[in-house]
Amino acid sequence: MSRNSPYDVAIVGGGLAGISAALELLDHGLKVVIIDRDSEQNFGGLANESLGGMTLINTPVQRLNRIQDSPGRALRDWHSFAQFSEHDEWPKKWAELYVNRSVDDIYNWLKPKGINFFPIPHWVERGEFGEGNSIPRYHIIWGTGLHLMRTLIDELRNHPKAINLTCLFDHRVESLILQNRAIAGIQGSHEKTSQAFEIEAPIVLVASGGINGDINRVKQEWDKSWSDAPQHILNGAHRYADGAVHDAVREIDGNVTNLHQMWK
Ligand SMILES: Cc1cc2nc3c(=O)[nH]c(=O)nc-3n(C[C@H](O)[C@H](O)[C@H](O)COP(=O)(O)OP(=O)(O)OC[C@H]3O[C@@H](n4cnc5c(N)ncnc54)[C@H](O)[C@@H]3O)c2cc1C
Repeated sequence: MSRNSPYDVAIVGGGLAGISAALELLDHGLKVVIIDRDSEQNFGGLANESLGGMTLINTPVQRLNRIQDSPGRALRDWHSFAQFSEHDEWPKKWAELYVNRSVDDIYNWLKPKGINFFPIPHWVERGEFGEGNSIPRYHIIWGTGLHLMRTLIDELRNHPKAINLTCLFDHRVESLILQNRAIAGIQGSHEKTSQAFEIEAPIVLVASGGINGDINRVKQEWDKSWSDAPQHILNGAHRYADGAVHDAVREIDGNVTNLHQMWK
């Protein structure tokens, strides 16, 4: 087994979430390793196939179209259809953070990188009975998710601190290492050779996508209030986003919740 260090942060998954996090961490001078089960040519994950639309609140594009939005209004709309339970402390905090920071952390973060937005926001997820977005907030980028990912990957490769970045492809993460009850790294095996590997890092960021790459898992987690899971389901998720890393997090008593919240 090969031992590798010294990274400040190990990121499991090189999709949009993992790559965005890596860019931020490099900006802060940290040493980062991205570990992905997929091959290098698929770097960027599912977003390479995506449309590139995102919910943003109180943007210049909305103002151009005389749509008045605010974090307060967006949060009310979010709560109207999120079906939060009293136990959903973190999801509620996430909603609040998102509505307050979507312009700074997404719109203003992407624009200088050369990502432009279609000048009309669209109105999706209005809800069948009025719950949902009460105004248009769905901002679509020019060039689809493929352009977004090519831009972010270029940014990563040409980052002034790119020397602090290591990318390992064809590496499947199987478990998280605990030492003295603290995270100490990850373990796994090479996708093609099955050779075991271990990476030490004091922080592990899990960005391995959802669970929907495994249709049996989708059926297992199916929300019973939607009726029974259909026998045949078309898989539009990343093939490796199968919930295995969620299980690894659970194995070390990590808090994994709301797997039944799938977008159908
Ligand atoms: C056709 C289509 C259109 C879409 N349109 C939109 C849209 O307009 N707006 C929107 O917001 N979303 C859209 N989506 C959804 C969006 O693309 C995804 O939600 C998003 O890309 C997920 O990014 P992620 O980084 O979380 O995960 P992923 O892109 O799934 O990346 C996960 C990565 O983790 C790796 N991985 C998984 N398990 C392991 C393991 N055990 N070890 C190592 N690596 C592992 C995978 O190889 C993968 O590279 C669309 C999706 C599709 C298919």
